[in-house]
Amino acid sequence: MPTRGALCGRRPNFFDKTPALAYDNIMKKAVIFDFDGVIHDTLQLAYKINLKIYKNISLEEYKDFFNGNVYEHKKVTVAATEKFFAAQNREFKKLVIKEHIKEGLEKLKKDYKLFIVSSNMGKTLDNYFKNNKLTHIFTEILGRDFHESKVEKFRHLMKKYCLAKKDCLFVTDTLGDILEANKIKLKTIAVDYGFHGRERLRRGKPLKIISDFKELLPAVKDYFKK
Ligand SMILES: [Mg+2]
Repeated sequence: MPTRGALCGRRPNFFDKTPALAYDNIMKKAVIFDFDGVIHDTLQLAYKINLKIYKNISLEEYKDFFNGNVYEHKKVTVAATEKFFAAQNREFKKLVIKEHIKEGLEKLKKDYKLFIVSSNMGKTLDNYFKNNKLTHIFTEILGRDFHESKVEKFRHLMKKYCLAKKDCLFVTDTLGDILEANKIKLKTIAVDYGFHGRERLRRGKPLKIISDFKELLPAVKDYFKK
C-alpha cells in the first residue's frame, strides 16, 4: 500500500488500491485556525489567571506577550506556564461555543479540511470540542504539547496531509501568529475581535482583517478562487 507521502500531488487511478481517506487527503484545501481569540474569546479568562501569576500585570502588557511566539517571551517561564494551564483547564470546562461560530465552522467544513494550530494545550482543546459536541469539525488539533513553534506545526500538517502552501489559509487574532505564518509564507486572515486590534494586526500584513466570524467563509472562498 502506498504511504501518504507517496500520494502527494498524484491522482489515484482505477488500479490503485488507494484508501479513500488518503485520496480525500490530497483533494482538499485547508483552513488552519488559531483557537484563543478566534474560535472562543478567552482574553479575559486568560488575563484574570495571569493577573495572579504575574502580579499587577496590565491588560496591555499581557497582550504584548502575543506580539511574537508567546513561549519566547522572557516572562513566560515553564513554571508560570504550568500554573496557567492548571487554572485554565478548570475554567475551560464551562465554556460554550457561540452559535454563529459553530454554524460558520460547519459551513466551512463542507468545502475545506479544517485544522487547529494553537499555543494552548491540545488535550484542553479536545475537551472543549467534546463538551460542545464538535469533535467532527477538525481533522487534527495541534497544541503546545505537540510543539511550541507554530511554524513546526504548520510544516507538520502540510507534510502529513500533502497540502501545498497556496492551498492553506491561516486564521488568527494575534500579530505574533501572523509573523510565524509569514516565516513560511503562509497567508493569513486576521480577526480583530480577539486579543489584538486592527492597528497591531496590520503590522503583520495579513491578507485581510475581518471583524465578524460570518465574514470568514466569503473571504476564504474569495482567496481560493484566485
Ligand atoms: Mg489567538
